[in-house]
Amino acid sequence: MSEDKPEKQSVSAIKGTHDILPKEARDWQKVEAVVQAAFELYGYREIRTPVFEATELFEKGTGQSTDIVQKEMYTFTDKGGRSITLRPEYTPSVVRAIIEHRLDLLPDPMRYYFIGPMFRFDKPQKGRFRQFHQVDIEVFGENDPAIDAEIIEMADHLLKKLKVTETEVLVNSVGCRNCRPAYLKDLRAAAAAVEASLCPDCQRKAETNPLRIFDCKVEACREIARGFPEISGYLDAECAEHFRKFRSYLDFYGIPHRIEPRLVRGIDYYTKTTFEITAAKLGAQNSILGGGRYDDMMKDFGGPDICAIGFAMGVERLLSVAELEPASDKFIYLAYMGDEAKKEAILLARFLRSHGVECLLEFKERGLKSQLGRASKLGASWALIIGEEEVGMGRYQLKDMEKGTQVEAGKQDLLGILGRSDT
Ligand SMILES: [Zn+2]
Ligand SMILES: [Zn+2]
Repeated sequence: MSEDKPEKQSVSAIKGTHDILPKEARDWQKVEAVVQAAFELYGYREIRTPVFEATELFEKGTGQSTDIVQKEMYTFTDKGGRSITLRPEYTPSVVRAIIEHRLDLLPDPMRYYFIGPMFRFDKPQKGRFRQFHQVDIEVFGENDPAIDAEIIEMADHLLKKLKVTETEVLVNSVGCRNCRPAYLKDLRAAAAAVEASLCPDCQRKAETNPLRIFDCKVEACREIARGFPEISGYLDAECAEHFRKFRSYLDFYGIPHRIEPRLVRGIDYYTKTTFEITAAKLGAQNSILGGGRYDDMMKDFGGPDICAIGFAMGVERLLSVAELEPASDKFIYLAYMGDEAKKEAILLARFLRSHGVECLLEFKERGLKSQLGRASKLGASWALIIGEEEVGMGRYQLKDMEKGTQVEAGKQDLLGILGRSDT
């Protein structure tokens, strides 16, 4: 007998993932709406790309020496024998889409935004997930440092809308392919001189890409890195001028900022401008948004020679510090008694919904008192009571759940009382 018993072991969500339950989802919807409205105001349009891509897209785009590609990608072989990766970041996908659809040939501004899940096999900890969500913007074909400043001003506008306070803007320039090699040479020499004191990860980075040592989370490495040469002394005339103008535009916008010479960001493709906005409320890992310029990626992918800049923001982090308006979800609970009244309630709900009134009609045998109890518990703004005798007359009792008052109303009266017109 026991062999026939079905197994009743429950299945849980995968470690590092989280469910966004209805109450929380309301906040997500609000944040998404604010984000979309803000970006659209600045002329950005949404672009949606697949969640998975060919692995080489990220190896090439994000960069072989990054922690993302080395350790954090969800890569698997699909049934067709192809190597597939769940996107760990968004930028390479947009660049691919632009080249594939030749979006650069359209007259539209190449300003895009995106909201969606990303996947990284990172150590799950508080506020850090393996499936996490990002809001992202990218601008292509604009070389003027005014755009570098404008996207920061746009981020600032967005964070103010979401009432994120105590923010700080950090900026840096990581130079270009012309001026960075000399810096990397000196940085490599500096790292080699203290190699024994670095963590094994950084010892490897000292060879492959010493810039990545600045991303290390080991405190000893961070302390050592503070003594490394700073890139500002190595910028060529063009990069130095771009950085100077970028900062003067930030001043023009009245956006205070601080130069952080170790701000190189954990990705290989950045050129010139890099930046981060931090929020004090986030604690030690306080970055809420980060980005920079990547002028070479498009041509490295075999596309046109088009410069680019963008930023990404973690939605989970944003939600943890945003202050959202409380929900004003007004709805009406339809209470009925008997079969005839039930039919009348169904028709009334259909009528009210077609006029944009949110209705809840529950199909359970309950007494009137119990139904009103439900209405109150669920936070309904009104309860509409449809009794057996009232059906024939087309008159109902509308109870204001907050005030406790009750009025008699007909079908058309309801729209007026509930604040909807009949048109
Ligand atoms: Zn340069
Ligand atoms: Zn290290």
